Amino acid sequence: MTEQIKKSTPEKTAFLGVYGCQMNLADAERMAGQLESLGYRRTEEMAAADLILLVTCCVRETAEDKVYGKIGEIKGLKRQRPSLLFGVAGCMAQKEGDALIKRAPHIDFVLGTGRTGELGRVVRELEAERGGPVVDTGDVTGPIAEGCPVARRTPLSAWVPVMYGCDNFCTYCIVPYVRGRERSRRPEDIRREIQEAVAQGYREITLLGQNVNSYGKDHKQADFADLLRLADDVPGIERVRFMTSHPKDLSRRVIEAVRDGHHICEHFHLPVQHGSDRLLKAMNRGYTAAAYRAVVEEIRAAVPGASLTTDLIVGFPGETEQDFEALLDLVRAVRFDAAYTFLYSPRSGTPAAKMDDQVPDEVKRDRLHRLMAVQDEISRAINERLRGQAVEVLAEGPSQNDPAVWTGRTRTGKIVLWPHEAEIAGELVSVRVAEPQTWVLKGVLEQGA
Ligand code: SF4
Repeated sequence: MTEQIKKSTPEKTAFLGVYGCQMNLADAERMAGQLESLGYRRTEEMAAADLILLVTCCVRETAEDKVYGKIGEIKGLKRQRPSLLFGVAGCMAQKEGDALIKRAPHIDFVLGTGRTGELGRVVRELEAERGGPVVDTGDVTGPIAEGCPVARRTPLSAWVPVMYGCDNFCTYCIVPYVRGRERSRRPEDIRREIQEAVAQGYREITLLGQNVNSYGKDHKQADFADLLRLADDVPGIERVRFMTSHPKDLSRRVIEAVRDGHHICEHFHLPVQHGSDRLLKAMNRGYTAAAYRAVVEEIRAAVPGASLTTDLIVGFPGETEQDFEALLDLVRAVRFDAAYTFLYSPRSGTPAAKMDDQVPDEVKRDRLHRLMAVQDEISRAINERLRGQAVEVLAEGPSQNDPAVWTGRTRTGKIVLWPHEAEIAGELVSVRVAEPQTWVLKGVLEQGA
């Protein structure tokens, strides 16, 4: 009987367009889980979907422009199929709220960053009764919704959010305004999620937060070092990663937890953003270049061989050639394994957007090129040291560009490529590095690690 009913009810499909950072990817997995429990199957075909959900980012103007383009495209689909349900979630939804509906009345619901756990209820209500648009962007500092079904897309590595929001208010950043104040999940809820992920076959988890080092400052049940050790002890876990750390909150306890852990990967992503103390102050980063270098020395003394990556911004308002030289000096002194470099772009609603001395685009671009040239040379030299060495890799699968080449990462976060030989997804293997490059290590598979 039920089979017939199932057959008779046409399958519903949902398309999720996800923009921005890992936190948005993790939120999207929780929203996809709720849609699945309502009978939606996830599809890549937006034009044919019964429900479209955009999980948006507003970290830069360009990110928003992309979303408005998509919203326009969906207007046409909605005209063809008025029954189509269309919603917008994520940071841009939080920032814009009602204004989104005014600008695009074909949107059925807008869900703020603190309301991702409400998606199931909102969709059920709209399915039952197609009333007016729903806008729910209230309370970004409310209790964290626990118990959401999580529909992950990746087979081996799982995102596990440990906290939401940020209290740092860096002057260029919109995050604290759209993700609210720092709220930490309870350790037992995080442990349960890790155990469930391992039971589903995940070998690696990444503990996620805008500033994981502040974990637990609110509920004081555990701090981030405790959480790392808790994750390290989950039976069956192979690798534990974490991001993002704020240099001013990285404690000795966290460094020791990485040192002592069996599965905690020796990779620190520690955004410094700049090397000029004058600009670090204007950015409200809360540390000096010297203090940052002291943290780096502490890491390297306690965890030899640990890799260090960072984020760097060029063209912050008021940046002089001298400031830029200070940035290059820091990059040459610290020698990061890799750096994610960004052109400063003014974000309306942030203090820096109102600052004088906005740097001309051509100057920004010139500095970005010079910075990348310096950093690429360092990354290449660091990877060159691995030539001929065997590295342990968690095999992920065929590389995006070439199915005959497999990919995976070392504990230090380096991407490794090797000619495919056997189905070894999820296995720890040994790859001998033959051709180290700036961003990847090319090598040959050896026997299982
Ligand atoms: S630490 Fe600064 S840059 Fe990072 S999310 Fe918080 S405010 Fe933004």
